[in-house]
This record gives sequence, C-alpha cells and structure tokens, in this order.
Amino acid sequence: MLKLPIYMDNHATTRVDPRVVDAMLPYFSEKFGNAASRNHSFGWEAEEAVEKARGQIAAIIGAKSKEIIFTSGATESDNLAIKGVVDFYKDKGNHIVTCVTEHKAVLDSCRALERAGRATVTYLPVDKYGMVDPDEVRKAITDKTVLVTIMFANNEIGTIHPIAEIGKITREKGVVFHCDAVQAIGKVPVDVDRCGIDLMSLTAHKLYGPKGVGALYVRSKGPRVRLTPIIDGGGHERGMRSGTLNVPGIVGFGAACEIAQREMTDEAARLVELRTRLQAGLFERLEDVYLNGHPTERLPGNLNLSFAYVEGESLLMGINDVAVSSGSACTSATLEPSYVIRALGIDEELAHSSIRFGLGRFNTAEEIDFVTERVSGEVKRLRDMSPLYEMAKEGIDLKSVNWKAD
Ligand code: PLP
Repeated sequence: MLKLPIYMDNHATTRVDPRVVDAMLPYFSEKFGNAASRNHSFGWEAEEAVEKARGQIAAIIGAKSKEIIFTSGATESDNLAIKGVVDFYKDKGNHIVTCVTEHKAVLDSCRALERAGRATVTYLPVDKYGMVDPDEVRKAITDKTVLVTIMFANNEIGTIHPIAEIGKITREKGVVFHCDAVQAIGKVPVDVDRCGIDLMSLTAHKLYGPKGVGALYVRSKGPRVRLTPIIDGGGHERGMRSGTLNVPGIVGFGAACEIAQREMTDEAARLVELRTRLQAGLFERLEDVYLNGHPTERLPGNLNLSFAYVEGESLLMGINDVAVSSGSACTSATLEPSYVIRALGIDEELAHSSIRFGLGRFNTAEEIDFVTERVSGEVKRLRDMSPLYEMAKEGIDLKSVNWKAD
C-alpha cells in the first residue's frame, strides 16, 4: 500500500535505518557512560563502542581508525579542515583553491577567512555538467597554496568530480587536499588512498544514520596532515576536537557505515534502476524537460530536472504529498535561483524551474510511478495556465519579446 506523503529528498537527510536505531538504543540507557571516563567500566564500555564505530567508519573510506576525528556534522568538519589547515600552515602560504558549486559550509568558511584577511581564495568554475577540470586545479595552484578543497559529489545535481585526478595533482604539488564527501559515502566507492585525499568530511545523517554527528578524516602518514583546532577544551580526539563524544550518535554512525559498505553495490544498482524509471517516465509524458548535472558521472539516487515554463516553487506547492526540493532557495525576501544550477550556465528561468529528486533506500517502484504521474500531471496543469507556454508553443521567441507597454 502506498503511504503518503512520499519522501524523495534524500540529499537533505535520510531516515535512520531501523537497524541503526537498534544499535544506538542501549547507549541512551544502560550503557550511558562517558567515553572519556578512564577509571570505571561505564567509561570503558562507551570507549569500546566509540572505537568500534571509528573502525567501521574508517573501513568504508579505506582509512585507519586513528585517522577519524568525530565532530558534530559535516559543517563542523568543513570548518575544521579549512580553518585548521589555513592557520596551521600560515608560514607556508595563505591561498585556497575551491570551486563555485561547493556546499555553503565550504564556501562560507573560505569567505570568512578572506574577510578576516587570513586567506586568498580561487573559486574555480565548472563545465555545463557541473564538473571541475583538473587542469584548472593544476593551473590555480601557486607556491602560496596551502589547501585545495573540492567536493566528491554535488548535493544538488549529483555530479561526481574527477577526484582521483585532482588528488594526483595535489600530491605532485605537495598541497593538502580536502574533500567534502558527504553525499558520496555509502553511495559510490570512496577510497582516501586511491583518490589522494588528505582530509575528508563525513556526516551520518546522509547515509541512514542520526543527525548531529560527523567526522573528519585526517591523514596520518604520507603526508601527515596537521591542523589547528577550532574548539578548545579537554583535548579529546587527539587534541583536534574537544568535547564529550556523542556516544549513541557515533555508534549509529558506525552501524550506518557498516550497513552501507555491505549493501552499497546492490543498493546503487537498485537506485539507478528506479531513477531511470522516473526519468524515462517524465520524459515520455512531458516535453521541454532538461537534465541538470552529468548524465553518467552522477550519484545513483540523484535526478535534477528543469521543467521549462514552470516555476519550481509552484510545482512543489502543487505536489505537496511528495517531498522533493526546488532549485530556488527562498532566501529573505527574494526568490533566488540556486547558485549551483546557475554555475552550469543555464538561464535564470530554467534555473528557477529545477527540481531535485533524491531517491534513497526506502523508496519503492510504486512510489516512483506515483511521483511520475503526480509531477507530470502538475507540470501539464501549470503549463496550461501559463500564457508564456502558450506563446512559446505558437512559435514566439520569448527572449525577443518587448514586454513594456507603449
Ligand atoms: N556538505 C555537503 C555536500 C552537504 O550536502 C551537507 C548537508 O547539507 C553538508 C556539507 C552539511 O552537513 P551537516 O548537515 O552534517 O552539517
């Protein structure tokens, strides 16, 4: 039986897997110890659980346990990586290379450093599929560059960057490489050694774990990466991130990684099948629909489409029993089209008409079919009411129309 509303916004967050909930529950009640309590069994029990989770998280990215530093989520991990490296290596230089489609946690960290006069930043463009060119990364690196920060996969359009090629360049140039891999972990294979990654941000809630717990991978050897902490306190997490650990959250994060690692291949194949079904169904029923992002180098669960002549926000309101995202962020008084979609070079109207479908573990083929009918029906209804659509169908070039009254 189909249950409404349907959740198809799995890039924003995911439902906690019931197996993860089961793993976490004892750590709220009978096993409630502080992992930093060294002198009794409550503490040892909590510490053991944290270390098990550290191993599970390290395993999914090909790292060593001691290279995992727990944080409150990827926003904190991005801040720690960027601000921590810039401060620690300030005698070497102050230049950062990043990309215009990064998450705000990366872009705003870079901007904060620029504003404080502590760094200069190069924001690389992307091609029409949202991909950064490794050659551009190479050209942007100077003898003052201390950090390259490029995400593994984009959270709006799902495009996967050529991370291993970028890692080869940063290794050659001796520059620290940070990668926000939040959307990629558990969805596609990620290996820190194969990709030459030195620092990597992760978060539990995008892979069926709990919210408010994340990690930063910090390479320990070849090269050993150093950071200045941004939170001072009791010296937890090898001095890089003080604060009492969120033991139940960390246990859940570990369990989520173990499940994802075991099931990733099958799950990715199933999601690609569902996504293909959704895309084909919508393209069959509608004209003037465009794919945003890379056609093949993309996350299995991501489908980002622009429905020409339709406002994304109006479409969302019309399909309120389906949870998806639009490319327009309702920021303050203005409705701005997404900076990620704009970076692809498409015009403002199409950017305003984009919708992100984020498919995940709990979506079914029945839901896909419902969403296909619901979205195509609503797009047709909105277009039928749109004078612009009528004009376009009559062959009028909307860009050449003089809209001013004489
Ligand atoms: N980086 C990317 C690419 C994301 O998609 C998100 C999630 O919104 C974050 C960082 C922030 O993660 P968190 O919610 O754990 O702070």
